[in-house]
Amino acid sequence: MEIKIIEAAPDQRKPRPEPDKLGFGRYFTDHMFCMKYKEGKGWYDPVIEPYHQLTLDPTAMCLHYGQEVFEGLKAYRGPAGEVYLFRPQENIRRMNVSAARLCMAQIDESIFFEALKKLVALDCDWIPQEKGSSLYIRPTLIATEAALGVRPAEEYLFFIITGPVGAYYAQGFSPTRIYVSEEYVRAAPGGTGAVKAAGNYAASLYASRIATDMGYTQVLWLDALEKRYVEEVGTSNIFFLIGDELITPPLGGTILPGVTRDSVISLAGRLGIKVVQRPLTIDEVVSALEEGTLTESFASGTAAIISPVGHIFYRGKEYAINGGKTGDLSEKLFNEMLQIQYGMKDDPFGWRVRVL
Ligand SMILES: *Cc1c(COP(=O)(O)O)cnc(C)c1O
Repeated sequence: MEIKIIEAAPDQRKPRPEPDKLGFGRYFTDHMFCMKYKEGKGWYDPVIEPYHQLTLDPTAMCLHYGQEVFEGLKAYRGPAGEVYLFRPQENIRRMNVSAARLCMAQIDESIFFEALKKLVALDCDWIPQEKGSSLYIRPTLIATEAALGVRPAEEYLFFIITGPVGAYYAQGFSPTRIYVSEEYVRAAPGGTGAVKAAGNYAASLYASRIATDMGYTQVLWLDALEKRYVEEVGTSNIFFLIGDELITPPLGGTILPGVTRDSVISLAGRLGIKVVQRPLTIDEVVSALEEGTLTESFASGTAAIISPVGHIFYRGKEYAINGGKTGDLSEKLFNEMLQIQYGMKDDPFGWRVRVL
């Protein structure tokens, strides 16, 4: 299948945002990729065309029964102007795992990859040059069949949009303040916590609002069954440095298998750090904080790479980690990852994919 390209006319092109006012998720480029699916026909009409609004029937099944999955990755500009994707095959595979979990059509991996490369190449002058900024890429799959009734849809739309985003830490690291939720949970065993399904995020908003109202940045999620085991923070994976071990919860079906999580595990190992994937209770975290053996914690995800945790609130008490400041290991892992992603350092794991 050949991807058709319809370039935006001059009057369809958007004004460029100021590089220092990008923020996250506010600006999108001139083009998008679209491809349709119909049961019996398969995928058809792959096209890169001007960014446009979607037309959906009010009964489009994604609007009623939540068949919607997405991905998030970035394109990075290297020192000589070259452009890289970071482990895109991981996102492609994960999107299909998500789709399968929601009984949605699988996307051919090679056309997905082609679409990513061609779209980024076409809108490459939208990729910001400034240090730490990048082009965020949002592949999305929605059920478009017009019908009510709970069952897997027979028609889908796969689209990819991209947009320039600013450096997450333009003003330097600012460690987050996290709130341990005991009342609400993100994902239960057997549920959809291990996939990037849109409904997971809707379900997380209420606890996030409680955390924000309490003066915290994000929720630290505990397991649904016992409310004892630490799982994730906000929409990121979580790591704790206790003694000389970097500990992260194992992927047991309720945790999103983050590409950044996996990369941090490999990278930390290569730096000679002992990385352990094992269940970790909130009680163990609190006693390690009280004993002073827990010296660093950070969240990992595509948006921020590494987001240091400065404070944890649990059962009416606030605990500081490393005096609320970013730890050395967090900073080192952040810098190492960033340098690999931006092509400033050699790439021992072969993670980078050069697009231009
Ligand atoms: C996307 C996401 C992550 C991080 O995944 P990356 O591939 O590292 O960006 C972690 N947890 C949740 C719930 C997520 O949605």
